[in-house]
Amino acid sequence: MMIRFKPVFSHTIWGGTKLRTDWGFNETGDDIGECWTIAAHPHGDVSVSGGKYDGMHLSELWAEHRELFGNTEGDRFPLLIKIITASDDLSIQVHPDDDYAKKNENGSLGKTECWYIVDCEKDSKLVIGHNARTKAELEEMIDEGRWTEFIREIPVKKGDFINIVPGTVHAIKGGITVLESQQNSDITYRVYDYDRMQNGLPRELHIDKSKDVITVPALSVDKSVISEDGLSGVKKLLSCKYFDVFRINVDGEETFSEKRPFLLASVIEGNGEADGEKIKKGDAFMLPSGYDKLSFKGRMKIIISSLPA
Ligand code: ZN
Repeated sequence: MMIRFKPVFSHTIWGGTKLRTDWGFNETGDDIGECWTIAAHPHGDVSVSGGKYDGMHLSELWAEHRELFGNTEGDRFPLLIKIITASDDLSIQVHPDDDYAKKNENGSLGKTECWYIVDCEKDSKLVIGHNARTKAELEEMIDEGRWTEFIREIPVKKGDFINIVPGTVHAIKGGITVLESQQNSDITYRVYDYDRMQNGLPRELHIDKSKDVITVPALSVDKSVISEDGLSGVKKLLSCKYFDVFRINVDGEETFSEKRPFLLASVIEGNGEADGEKIKKGDAFMLPSGYDKLSFKGRMKIIISSLPA
């Protein structure tokens, strides 16, 4: 039995209306930036939609029914899945690793994340990495506000997959929609916000912590971006310490089979069926422990995130 979730939304200065108009979510406002589809975080805790556990928060399911998660250990649900749609550029940011976050952020987890680019405009770019060669140069560029020199912008297209390890400077730019898989953490250090104002004030920056955690030199572009082959079938996009991510292109029929404590599925394009249940773009669901095989029918694109094998 798959477990479906009712998402939670966040409204942001760079948000827009696409999550309603393109994705069909029933959320008002013209500043919808993020849809947390599978999350058990104090800033967003989704609830189960339908079935035996209807209405329970994912955090409660984790606390009270650990058997659904293959008895995975840990004081919190380890992953977080969200859709981000940007109408405007996001601030330039960086995340700490587990050690730094534990010491400096009240025991929080660090944040490793990755983005599958679901949609973007022609000639889209995003920020991944920076151009400083040494720590001294990094501090100088930041202190002197030499942002165009500092920030590494790269062209991206639909289907690119971006790997963002802690310490990587990154930012989504306007017009881009991504499906993000990440560690269950919300610790973000803002390095630069294009000197924008929110309610007449600049948003807070975290310069010292950013300087602490930014990796110098940055990971090379070819280690940060994985290009999609566009072929039908299952493709493993990433395997890291915290999670694995697979892309499935369904064109007719397709089977996915991986043995993991649990699997998290996100439909990002099209519609069809999963083991006879109707699914469509925007749906997110979990396959609990023991449910290791799924048969898809239809025309759709799905991202599956899981703990590593
Ligand atoms: Zn991030």
